[in-house]
Amino acid sequence: MNYKITVLPGDGIGVDVTREAVVCLQTIATKFGHDFVFESHLMGGCALDKVGVPLPDETLKAAQASDAVLLGAVGGPQYDNNPPRLKPETGLLALRAGLGVFANLRPAFLHETLIDASPLKPEIVRGTDLLIVRELMGGAYFGQPRGVDDERGWNTMAYTVPEVERVARVAFEAARLRRKKLHSIDKANVLESSQLWRKVVVRLAAEYPDVELHHGYVDACAMQLVMRPTDYDVIVTENLFGDILSDEASVLTGSIGLLPSASIGGKANAVGLYEPIHGSAPDIAGKGIANPIGTIASAALLLRYSLKLEKEARLLEDAITATLKSGYGTPDLKSQPNRVTTTQMGDLIRKYIGTH
Ligand code: NAD
Repeated sequence: MNYKITVLPGDGIGVDVTREAVVCLQTIATKFGHDFVFESHLMGGCALDKVGVPLPDETLKAAQASDAVLLGAVGGPQYDNNPPRLKPETGLLALRAGLGVFANLRPAFLHETLIDASPLKPEIVRGTDLLIVRELMGGAYFGQPRGVDDERGWNTMAYTVPEVERVARVAFEAARLRRKKLHSIDKANVLESSQLWRKVVVRLAAEYPDVELHHGYVDACAMQLVMRPTDYDVIVTENLFGDILSDEASVLTGSIGLLPSASIGGKANAVGLYEPIHGSAPDIAGKGIANPIGTIASAALLLRYSLKLEKEARLLEDAITATLKSGYGTPDLKSQPNRVTTTQMGDLIRKYIGTH
């Protein structure tokens, strides 16, 4: 099969980690007889430096015309004092809006070999493998009216039926590809927007009789995530709750350099955006020691959700797990006995793909 993938390396370590992920995807393409065409474009600080805007039109158009987008990271201290429209992160928000992605998928998977890197006790965290589906374009972050004056600050948390339905559908479908268990998290005992959320999810559940549906309140879920993280398979929740819960879940599994994300949605042939959860890490940029696994795991999500290549996605994920199990790791993975560079890590993952 023929696929067009837009690559946006961005700034700092974004450049190093996307390079490794692209070569992994090329290895997968060769092994399975696919044709992946990669096109790199400017985005973030490097775009500001070269053309004066964080998201050039050409970049957005290329992204919209492709099958999927792989992004590294954007930003750096030299842009901190720029006005908002000239900040690298503004380009990221514009890209998400331009692609119409409304569901953010954040898996948190604990590699057994990194169990000591988790802040939780091994007996609690062992076996953690969950996916948070966060609504990305609604709720309190976008609701109107909003504002602040000298006496008050106010926001509006509002959801419509179609907004809940479309993200809940993504979550039900994701659960079907996993262990078929879905927790819908809300605050329906207090918030009307959550009452609508729950009603819509319950109605949609009739279309997914094979998925076991549970409801929970966000405060209880925040506790359960650190007490019994293995209870969860897929969690779906609204924007603000998802922002908080996905950060909480991300620390369960060790280094920030390991974790991928996918932003999907939009119309039938929507373009998904795949990126690690970390930033451009100026403190280690250019040293060749950034952990590329978060980006390579994002490439696996790209294979799964945008290209629908499940077998290929699993092989890439197996390659990551096997490489970690062999004791290899970039310096952020302190418990790993065999220290390697960014490129060596990528090479080891590709070698596994080539031989399995
Ligand atoms: P960061 O994620 O870049 O770094 C936080 C810490 O984690 C640093 O010590 C860094 O060295 C380490 N780290 C991050 N990724 C790593 C990896 N792959 N391997 C090894 N260590 C890794 O967060 P920050 O320092 O708060 O932000 C730096 C810049 O990145 C800022 O300009 C910020 O705005 C931007 N940022 C961008 C994104 C994005 O592009 N999506 C996300 C977060 C932050």
